[in-house]
Amino acid sequence: MAKIRVGIPGALMYYLYFPLWQVFFNELGAEVVTSGRTTRVLLDHGVREALADACVPVKVFFGHVMALKDKVDYLFIPRVVCLNRRTVYCPKFLGLPDMIRHSLPGLPPIIDERMDVRAGRAALFRAYRRIGSSLGVGPLLVVRALARARRADARYHSLLLDGWRPPEAMTAVPAMPKEGRKPDLTFGVLGYPYAVYDDFLNAGLLEKLKRLKVRALTAENLAPGRLAAQTYDYSKRLFWTFSDQVLRATHLLFEEGKVDGIIHVSVFGCGPDSITDKMMELKAKLHRAVPFMTLIIDEHTGEAGLTTRLEAFADMVRRRKETVPCSR
Ligand code: SF4
Repeated sequence: MAKIRVGIPGALMYYLYFPLWQVFFNELGAEVVTSGRTTRVLLDHGVREALADACVPVKVFFGHVMALKDKVDYLFIPRVVCLNRRTVYCPKFLGLPDMIRHSLPGLPPIIDERMDVRAGRAALFRAYRRIGSSLGVGPLLVVRALARARRADARYHSLLLDGWRPPEAMTAVPAMPKEGRKPDLTFGVLGYPYAVYDDFLNAGLLEKLKRLKVRALTAENLAPGRLAAQTYDYSKRLFWTFSDQVLRATHLLFEEGKVDGIIHVSVFGCGPDSITDKMMELKAKLHRAVPFMTLIIDEHTGEAGLTTRLEAFADMVRRRKETVPCSR
């Protein structure tokens, strides 16, 4: 009997949870199909189909769904609400399955379980058990599948922590990715995972930094415990998960002073990011020894403009280091 094919779009949560979901569905006996990396065609399809005022990562997600929809029996688009009991994902994540369902015709059934740990300790397990039963799989098999998926997830995140990038960590090649020329600068590169790691969307930002001999330190390279313990200077915390994460990482890196510069990879059309960027700028003003730059990405992000800005930023930081050797 042919296996059920479950499609997982290669956007948004993909960068953090694909290994977990892939192993989970494989263990349930399903074949996982992904839409791969973002391309121009895929982005153009997404831009055409998504609401005009949607943020660019959501438009990209639409494109990935369109690339998958005729190849799979189910689409997996969970309604991810809260995974840490402290913060919630932005409203786009909460409404993602509905947005897709009501915007695109001819879709296969969508598995859209709500994931919200505020509903109790076993809430996530119950969500996965419901996914299992929608595929005709009993609870015992779900328990085993989830245990294996969590092991894969832990391994994946430990690779990210060691500086691996998602594509290499997902395939778990048995060697560290090549560093290229030895870096002489380290930049914090902070932003939402789907902005920092989508090479098409950000015009190959991480690769460009590597060519400029800059080591990129992302939020996923920082120990989760250190980030969770990090506070920021405001009486209220940002309640969107990724924005909170970015702001904690910003404070950690500025306060430790171990990076040579910080780049915020900001997303055009993102409400939460407009606030996050402002708060990062305010923090940067208190730590002028560590230069800060915001890069805004959108569907028109061009290679040439980005390269010029990165080169200018790296040159400026290098010159600063030469003239003020102990600036930190
Ligand atoms: S946080 Fe911003 S970029 Fe991410 S989905 Fe929400 S609106 Fe879009």
